[in-house]
Amino acid sequence: MQRQEPAAGTLYLVGTPIGHLGDLSPRARNVLAAVDVIACEDTRHSGQLLSDLQARGRRLSFHRHNIRTRLPQLMELLGEPRSVAVISDAGLPGISDPGEELVAEAHRCGHEVICIPGPCAATTALVSSGLPSDRFCFEGFLPAKGRGRRERMAQIVCETRTTVIYEAPHRLLTLLEDLEKHCGAERPVQVARELTKRHEQQVGPNLGAALAHFRKNAPQGECTVVLGGAPRAVDAEPDESELQRRLQVKIQEGSSASEAARRLAMETGLPKRRLYSLMHQENSQAD
Ligand code: SAM
Repeated sequence: MQRQEPAAGTLYLVGTPIGHLGDLSPRARNVLAAVDVIACEDTRHSGQLLSDLQARGRRLSFHRHNIRTRLPQLMELLGEPRSVAVISDAGLPGISDPGEELVAEAHRCGHEVICIPGPCAATTALVSSGLPSDRFCFEGFLPAKGRGRRERMAQIVCETRTTVIYEAPHRLLTLLEDLEKHCGAERPVQVARELTKRHEQQVGPNLGAALAHFRKNAPQGECTVVLGGAPRAVDAEPDESELQRRLQVKIQEGSSASEAARRLAMETGLPKRRLYSLMHQENSQAD
């Protein structure tokens, strides 16, 4: 027999729709309607959903700016013992949204934590992309600029697993341009736009094509980028004449010999030194 929900003294992480309201599960509805307290990322944003459910619980705002004051308050409520649900504006709390610290604190204080699973843009985009989903990485939002961004970009470029990245629409072109600069135009990508909504769309199949699309059609709505992994050097290694051709393309695009070798090394996973010497090999053959 299933346990009675919501239970006193339990923290419920409740997944809410990322677009389509029909994606709110019956179990999520029941818990949100009956729980004593609902911690919302934005009480105004979630107001309509909670009113539609006739949720009777006390609503408290819970976001990254008030975590420090809210955590002890929510632990006290759980200790009384009250049932507490946490929801974000959309999707799963704790995934690029508040929730992680609350769950850690609830565990530390010995309270039960239960997730009522629901939609998540990262996994929805991944499984819709057609890119390998047996192993993958989630990067969330990259830092907007500076060293932090450069470091994360350097890791992503060499990552052989599929990588999922969140981005705001007004920054999508910059992200795709950065990825193309480092991974090359041929790296597979699918940009999932407006998942579960009326104008849902997948844009790919590679960085060059996605960039061309979004330069013509300014990105609008919510977007998640699913980037194919870097080819592993031990897998199908291109033959030397193909490598030389790709080096020449980069030089014609304005890269120095060293820069061309570095970029191709990132794209192929082959050592930069080997590619650099290939270029000289070709030059000496041409002499
Ligand atoms: N917690 C949420 C989840 O579980 O997916 C993610 C919240 S995060 C603040 C918001 C980002 O998720 C957006 O910038 C976008 O990258 C992605 N996202 C959310 N809804 C989406 C949708 N319907 N289609 C595509 N991407 C979406």
